[in-house]
Amino acid sequence: MRVGIIGTGFGGIGIAAELLRHGYADLRLWERADDLGGVWRDNHYPGAGCDVPSPLYSYSWAPTTRWHRRYALQDQIHDYLRDVADRFGVSPLIRYGRSVVSATWDDEGATWTVGFADGSTEEVEVLISAVGQLSEPHIPAVPGVDDFAGTSFHSARWDHDADLDGKRVAVVGIGASAIQFVPHLVERAAEVTLFQRSANYILPKPDGPLPDWYAPGVAVERRLFRSLGEGFSRGMHDGSKVGEVQRRVALAHLRRQVPDPELRAKLTPDTPIGCKRILFSNNFYPAVSQPHVELVTDAVQEVTAGGVRAGGVEHEADVLIWGTGFATQAFDHGIEVTGRDGHTLAKQWGDGARAHLGVHVPGFPSLFLLYGPNTNLGGSSIVVMLEAQSRHIRSVLDHARRAGKHQVEVTTAAELQWDTEIQQRLATTSWAHCDNWYRHPVSGRITSNWPGSTREYDARLDALDPTEFAWT
Ligand code: NAP
Repeated sequence: MRVGIIGTGFGGIGIAAELLRHGYADLRLWERADDLGGVWRDNHYPGAGCDVPSPLYSYSWAPTTRWHRRYALQDQIHDYLRDVADRFGVSPLIRYGRSVVSATWDDEGATWTVGFADGSTEEVEVLISAVGQLSEPHIPAVPGVDDFAGTSFHSARWDHDADLDGKRVAVVGIGASAIQFVPHLVERAAEVTLFQRSANYILPKPDGPLPDWYAPGVAVERRLFRSLGEGFSRGMHDGSKVGEVQRRVALAHLRRQVPDPELRAKLTPDTPIGCKRILFSNNFYPAVSQPHVELVTDAVQEVTAGGVRAGGVEHEADVLIWGTGFATQAFDHGIEVTGRDGHTLAKQWGDGARAHLGVHVPGFPSLFLLYGPNTNLGGSSIVVMLEAQSRHIRSVLDHARRAGKHQVEVTTAAELQWDTEIQQRLATTSWAHCDNWYRHPVSGRITSNWPGSTREYDARLDALDPTEFAWT
């Protein structure tokens, strides 16, 4: 089988290694950039790192004891991915500068024709999309967004040439990325203005450098953090005692680190715990408490040549940084995917993306998604989910090979049953109770998140039920 994989982040590298280990040799990975790494290539803002402990934020089949901290920084994770790609034979299969713009199913030939930005095409029998949920930066359509006269960039496209020293810097959006780069910004800028639309729950981060002699039993640490992650995720369910503990710990952290009652009130969330991603930081609150930092909670009205207007006040700035997250609802990332009978994925997903097991879409034979709809987590590690998906896709291909079949397509009934169950379970999670990036903006469907534990997801993906698919 000729297999094509779009993307070279944790998803793409992981499935390629899984398939190579099991005898699939005819693979190619298309990468639009000139380096692998996905979000760990793109997010190199100061302080970028992971809030999942490294033993769990790495492949179980490629453990490393070289982590310098419990929570690795971006360059260490990026190096790890490069190393894994080299060691497991994936690197030579990557074609850089290959930006996929379309994929069209040909029923007669049972192949996908993949189109690239340069007008060329390639044909494969199996197409695997590993484009991620957080790869397209989002800058909101604020009036005047293009009028700013100073330097402006998104956190995932950090401009390291921008002069921040002694400058007035404005940051719009305070989420998982901003809480990591703001403390670094505050050390360099003369004035920092933070525009916060919603306050976050922030927990202390049990982080720190690991001494040279530290050679942990990686497998033991992995099991420990996985169990802790499962417990943490339970906090996202309505009425959860775990959620109540998380809320209290977060508010105690806020009280301890922010003595000023006025500032503390602005930083106190008014949403249920877990509804937006729970964050971890030891240095964000102290940074916001600095005298040269202002936290503005009025809505951003417009961007002007000289700054940002909010609450009728113009806040002047030399540099404007967007910490406004990603376009999370376009799971196809602008790639025009056309399946059986000319149906497009974009149209089929008009009210929000959905896929059986987060992997299979009816009408789109031999197309597999990694980190697809309803596979994101509120706790634990996405790498665990990606491994389950990779094993599952490989077992589907094994089954097809053994049965002498050339294409596989999930039945509409199986997908409907899955989606109905998942949506019912999601209705009683905290994600259903506020606006967040997990939901479709029009239909309100929660399209990003998985409501169960990673162990349940493992079990369900490992138990392949051939009757849920048409094998041709
Ligand atoms: P984010 O968490 O989605 O935060 C975006 C911020 O921008 C939010 O505060 C949002 O406010 C604000 N915003 C959006 N539109 C706005 C507007 N029109 N006006 C004012 N504010 C606006 O984005 P992110 O910080 O880049 O993180 C995205 C995801 O990446 C995270 O949830 C996480 O999954 C992942 N991430 C992970 C790590 C890690 O350590 N593992 C680190 C960074 C990122 P509202 O909250 O009101 O919408």
